[in-house]
Amino acid sequence: MKPLDLDEFKRQGYMMIDFLVDYHRNVANYPVLSQVQPGYLRKLLPSSTPSNPEPFGNILRDVKQHIVPRITHCQSPNYFAYFPSSSSIAGLMGEMLSTGFSVVGFNWISSPAATELESIVMDWLGQALKLPESFLFSSNVGGGGVMLGTTCEAILCTLVAARDKKLCHIGKENLKKLVVYGSDQTHCALQKAASVAGIHQENFRVIKTKKSTSFALSPDSLLAAILHDIENGLVPCFFCATVGTTTTAAVDPIGPLCDVAKYYGIWVHVDAAYAGGALICPEFRHFIDGVEGANSFSFNAHKWFLANVTCCCLWVKDSSCLTNSLSTNPQYLRNKASESNQVIDYKDWQIALSRKFQSLKLWFVLRTYGLDNLKNFLRNHVKMAKTFEDLVKKDKRFEIFVPRYFSLVCFRVSPLVITKKSFCNGTNDEEGHYNEFGGKIINDDKKRLVNEVNRKLLDSINGSGKAYMTHGIVEGAFVIRCAIGATLTEEQHVIMAWNIVKEHATSILSKRSKA
Ligand SMILES: *Cc1c(COP(=O)(O)O)cnc(C)c1O
Repeated sequence: MKPLDLDEFKRQGYMMIDFLVDYHRNVANYPVLSQVQPGYLRKLLPSSTPSNPEPFGNILRDVKQHIVPRITHCQSPNYFAYFPSSSSIAGLMGEMLSTGFSVVGFNWISSPAATELESIVMDWLGQALKLPESFLFSSNVGGGGVMLGTTCEAILCTLVAARDKKLCHIGKENLKKLVVYGSDQTHCALQKAASVAGIHQENFRVIKTKKSTSFALSPDSLLAAILHDIENGLVPCFFCATVGTTTTAAVDPIGPLCDVAKYYGIWVHVDAAYAGGALICPEFRHFIDGVEGANSFSFNAHKWFLANVTCCCLWVKDSSCLTNSLSTNPQYLRNKASESNQVIDYKDWQIALSRKFQSLKLWFVLRTYGLDNLKNFLRNHVKMAKTFEDLVKKDKRFEIFVPRYFSLVCFRVSPLVITKKSFCNGTNDEEGHYNEFGGKIINDDKKRLVNEVNRKLLDSINGSGKAYMTHGIVEGAFVIRCAIGATLTEEQHVIMAWNIVKEHATSILSKRSKA
């Protein structure tokens, strides 16, 4: 056995690239959402590890036969679910190199180039996003960036930093008093982080947002929650604002929220997991105006920025807060460079010790495409989203549920269509009963019916395998999300997706009216 047989590497490497080329050539032909029953694979594969070596070709054949037809194809041009996880050749090459070097880079000395490249790439990207100087290493005031795996980690690390900073002032015995704030649109990552960080469950605030203000968190609501907690002897600690929420891509007003939070000594983290990359375009940058008032900012380069999964970029203004909480210093890792305090030891900026050489991936992406192309890539998706939105608007059976800022369109079959007598099976006779715009209150049964129709529609679209979208529920309404951003998506795919929606809607609505 020669696990690093270089002749084999060459042979298999070319086979693998051929395989991936084929995969991408054909990816549009597979059902986007895997149509498979749970447990399918166990029936197809041997029940234990082989004792003898198997040829590479056999393994690849099984991948082709059993894996490819049953993955959900995020790289399909017809993938509009969740948020994009856009991949690229540059990202793939960088990832391959990182895996090829397989360095552990936990501190500077363990792989100096890995640490230094990461800090440079984080500065490059921070500049491209026009983050405040104080978030960059180059300004030498304690700020800087780190590449983590996911936003969940970024939120947990910053929350722990905020917690310890606060406890340092008020005493460790007061952990029970710390309060964490988010809105009802904040990603569940915040709740998980609060729980892991030992924040008391009763001190996790979910502040309500409204459709009338596009699900953005109002600074007044945040202020009211803070004041209420202070009155009750609690200590506000951490607030997570979002730019591009997961359900509807809503944007919290960063500047005014930071002003409120800062006054009360609260750490503000800005989570721009999906939309963050778009902020390199000047026309979107205003969405984080006022971010100077935040303590940290993160976005997932693996969502809509061509860095293959996973890659979360986190910047903090005061890195000593992170390292105070997360550093460890066992004898076996001690070295002169770390003791000189002239180097970054990224192990102290994250939860894990070992880390991948992730910066290669982003370095390749930034250099291969350049900022101008990246901006065009993002703008092109936004333009396609507008095309889809316009098509929805033209069909009176549908409604756009919330204003669109980026490349996510939230829509549904309009409750107005579902008011029709015939549609309601004769049980609801009063015409206009469902009309929420007419000032009449919709009762829960009717809301449920509207939701049921939309859920059916989505299931039917996804069951076709021709497009894949997902849903969200906001203010009790089931909305269909069409998130554009797969690397291979072109306008024709978006138009085709709309035709599929229309077709399935026609079929569902006509069946119901006949019933
Ligand atoms: C996707 C998403 C997350 C979670 O990202 P992970 O990297 O999977 O942890 C958090 N926040 C927002 C707004 C997201 O869209």
